[in-house]
Amino acid sequence: MDKIDIKNLTLEEIKKEMKRFYVPSYRAGQLFDWIYKRLALEFLDMSNLPLGFREKLDRYYYIGRMKLKERLKSGDGTEKFLFELSDGNFIESVLISARARNTLCISTQVGCKYGCIFCASGTRGFVRDLSSSEITGQVLAAQEITGKRITNLVFMGMGEPLDNYENMASSILIMNSQEGLGIGARKITLSTCGVIPGIEKLASLGLQVNLSISLHAADNKKRDALMPVNKKFPLERLIKACALFAEETGRKITLEYVLIKDKNDSIVDADLLSCVARKLKAKVNLIPYSPVRCKSFESPSGKTINQFKGRLLRNKINVTVRDSKGKDIQAACGQLAIKQ
Ligand code: SAH
Repeated sequence: MDKIDIKNLTLEEIKKEMKRFYVPSYRAGQLFDWIYKRLALEFLDMSNLPLGFREKLDRYYYIGRMKLKERLKSGDGTEKFLFELSDGNFIESVLISARARNTLCISTQVGCKYGCIFCASGTRGFVRDLSSSEITGQVLAAQEITGKRITNLVFMGMGEPLDNYENMASSILIMNSQEGLGIGARKITLSTCGVIPGIEKLASLGLQVNLSISLHAADNKKRDALMPVNKKFPLERLIKACALFAEETGRKITLEYVLIKDKNDSIVDADLLSCVARKLKAKVNLIPYSPVRCKSFESPSGKTINQFKGRLLRNKINVTVRDSKGKDIQAACGQLAIKQ
């Protein structure tokens, strides 16, 4: 029988497993403590658990671990980690540190199905979902490698988190639980290109995670051209799902808007975006386009970016411009891609 990676199980799931082993459920908390706080690598080392139980665990489970292949540091301090998965695939995570805040940008899939025409992540298609252990593992590894505690998480690396809903949700539960990594739900932000069924499920998860929507165009024709997902889940339905999410969770939504020269950077575009933001009482985060190899898109000039932002401000929209970090190491938004 193949062993199971115990890091794929939430605390609740381990508690249920404990029944199978005829041990009291508080042992699940001890196991979590060993795995996520003391970073144990072997069950046999878990000295406060009965020896017979440790041996049984060892027979059925293993403790997954990420393998670091490369660590790159940008001139601006941002770090990128390349991990090799057990099947030879690669994924990347990016650490952005600012004062007391250490934000890790994590991947949820190898490749991406959604093929937004400006993004590097989908250019080679989709390979597979990451397991919950591989999602959480990025955080554990980043902490171990750098000695820094990760305080904030953004699901903005490679892949579409809501297209890998179950594994993403388990990893959030593990990272959020006090016995696990203890990262507050409000410090976790999930970004989606607009997968509506996932937004609906996330609303019912009962955790106060932040939701960011990769909007990038506020009329269907333009959005269809930039993001094929819009043909399946058009703007009016997306806006409705977002409104429902905001209502059910009481959380404000952020609209991400990549500014691409001559594609979506006009004053009319800014007004259309303002309408959507107003309807959703959402914040807007403008992201000047980061250059991607093999793509001919460009960022607008600083002047155009300022005019666009100014128009949103005039329309009384809460807007910020993201200072996308790590461009020199291909770690900025949309630059993470499949490696071979
Ligand atoms: N699939 C999810 C998570 C990825 S987040 C999503 O689409 O939201 C990565 C963010 O960077 C998305 O908003 C994406 O649209 C944006 N992005 C993609 N390519 C980019 C580029 N070249 N420059 C700036 N942002 C980009």
